Amino acid sequence: MKKQILFAATYCMLFSNALFAAVDLRIDNAIILNPVDKHQVNIISNHWIAIQNGKIIKVSNARKKPRAKTVVDAKDKYLIPGLTDSHVHLKTMPGLLASDPNAKQMQKAFLQRQGRNYLYYGVTQVIDPSNTASGIADFMANVPAPNAFFCGAMPVYQGYNAEGLSYAKLHHHKPYFIAQHNDPTHELTPSQVHSHQGSQPLERMRSDGATCAKLYFEDGFGENSNIPLIYQGDARRLTESAKAIGLPSMAHANAVDMQQLAVDANVDIMAHGLWNWLTPNINQATNVLPPTVKAVLDSIIEKDIAYQPTLTVMDSLAKVTDRTFSFTEEYQTVLPSPVIAWYQSEPGRWFFKEMNQGWGSMSNQKKVAKLKRIFSQGQLALNYLYKNDATLLLGSDTPPAPTYTSQPGLSTYKELTMMHQAGVGLASLLSAATINNAKAFSLDDRYGSVAVNKIANLLLLNSDPLKSVSAYNDIDSVIVNGTMIKRATLHINALGAR
Ligand SMILES: [Zn+2]
Repeated sequence: MKKQILFAATYCMLFSNALFAAVDLRIDNAIILNPVDKHQVNIISNHWIAIQNGKIIKVSNARKKPRAKTVVDAKDKYLIPGLTDSHVHLKTMPGLLASDPNAKQMQKAFLQRQGRNYLYYGVTQVIDPSNTASGIADFMANVPAPNAFFCGAMPVYQGYNAEGLSYAKLHHHKPYFIAQHNDPTHELTPSQVHSHQGSQPLERMRSDGATCAKLYFEDGFGENSNIPLIYQGDARRLTESAKAIGLPSMAHANAVDMQQLAVDANVDIMAHGLWNWLTPNINQATNVLPPTVKAVLDSIIEKDIAYQPTLTVMDSLAKVTDRTFSFTEEYQTVLPSPVIAWYQSEPGRWFFKEMNQGWGSMSNQKKVAKLKRIFSQGQLALNYLYKNDATLLLGSDTPPAPTYTSQPGLSTYKELTMMHQAGVGLASLLSAATINNAKAFSLDDRYGSVAVNKIANLLLLNSDPLKSVSAYNDIDSVIVNGTMIKRATLHINALGAR
């Protein structure tokens, strides 16, 4: 008898839980595409998922479903993890001219729309490799917005990303810069110097909440070699110290000699594709990688360095240089028409003019062709890496320069399509955009797959991303921190002209 009562009481408790504790959101009947590793995506049908307090709390095919405040029937739709773009620059409107009388106003409006632009294209996590905790807080203040993370940038005195900055200014603007032993330390106090040596900047960025550390291997563009580099011994010690405190290290490098230095320094992530082959007269028709390029790519594969192809960099530079460029319809998904008009105006085209200087008498067409050739070298390198099982990451580098041709969200989508054009298969592409990024940045406890306890950042697609890359532009809804947003409401026209 006693036993029966106990049984009844337990049953009642379970029953009442099911009856009264409604979850926030339940999604029924979706085809769930769950990336598992570099090339494998599990397809789960006839399941429902329950979301509570911004997290996935259950993925199940049980007949008994929890009550929910909102139930979505996602029959014939595809549910995937929200995309991570692990290389974005969030601080400034692409191509803004600081001296323009409306610069402040344009920048403000940009910050208001930026997060929504990313969400419109399904990006629910972004990583800015050169930002600070307060910069990230500014970005996240304009909700809805993707969850954002930053890396601490570690330039050296007068090095790339710190050119023209006095030592004192460096301390102020680049809080994690690296002081090297022959730098002009007299400009700083001994304690300031100390805070920029050894593993001090790494410790500091970690306590500030950084997700990774970024080093720069750049001695100048093209065949130039005029920018000071980090000492190779320092670079190696820094990647080791970063690893010891659990911070992935990321390298800016896109030339064959520079990527070799980054590989030798044992970085975890290459922040650019290898498109600068330093072989100006190579015969493109052969599609054969020069031995020096192949050697670097082979060592990237062997050391399993995660690789961001950032194909949109050369693409957007070629477009901004091209005098025949015009803003296609897709730009009107993220840019208000007054901004497009400004970009087309005389002051707005300042970077077009800059890009067209210094080529001698070369025609505009030839300049563009040269930039496109460099772009195609990046595609060839990516194709080789993909075929040889490298770990690929979605990272668009939006914007890589004051390139107005590179816009939040839209560039991420372009990066996906160009990676696919370069030969990356659709399952591997989904992994690159989700689980690979989560793992490379040690965020896989929260992101990257559709699993219990992960943050409910998800996309509901109308078509199958394992069938066509255009599925990433066929989004029904974006779910951020458990809140479902219809894509149409994130379109620039729905936000009001700003
Ligand atoms: Zn960048």
